[in-house]
Amino acid sequence: MAGRDLASVAAEAAVCTRCELASGRTQVVFGVGSARADLMFIGEAPGRDEDLQGEPFVGRSGKLLDRLMLEELGHDRSGVYITNTTKCRPPGNRDPLPDELAACRPWLESQLEIIDPKVIVTLGNFATRLILNTREGITKMRGREHSWNGRVVVPTFHPSAALRSGGGQVLAEMRADFVRAKLAVRRAAAESVLATAR
Ligand code: SF4
Repeated sequence: MAGRDLASVAAEAAVCTRCELASGRTQVVFGVGSARADLMFIGEAPGRDEDLQGEPFVGRSGKLLDRLMLEELGHDRSGVYITNTTKCRPPGNRDPLPDELAACRPWLESQLEIIDPKVIVTLGNFATRLILNTREGITKMRGREHSWNGRVVVPTFHPSAALRSGGGQVLAEMRADFVRAKLAVRRAAAESVLATAR
């Protein structure tokens, strides 16, 4: 990966045919945001709107994600990086299959290596299980920080779960997780300043 930047990896991914999802996509939905973000959001897979527009989280779930970011983190999506475990839309918005997740994982690993976020928020079961290598569900994993490869991982619900449930408890717990992520980013920034000063 040495010497490669996000744009060149995105250009490679744009013509990827490593799995069956290539045949049904309009385009690869690689990711959006800052290549120097301290905070990365990882969702599941692109839906119809994302497949058409080429950007993750642009439908109803994306609007909720944007709202939570603004209200709990205090900024818009330009200050973070947003991507999915799988970069092409599964047909009919079905769940991504294990072989598709495995085939797409190197793209995510490249993104993590280049962006090097201090904190990762995994949105829902797929991203949480993939990153933390667990079979546990999101309800059990959320509500606390996890450590992975020197980074802090904060699992939370996928915004679609909050939409399905009509808000309420799920939304309140998502807000708490976003605050948890914000504090983890601040802590990492403070630690990095201290390390530089030593
Ligand atoms: S989902 Fe990932 S691995 Fe499969 S074709 Fe798309 S970019 Fe390639």
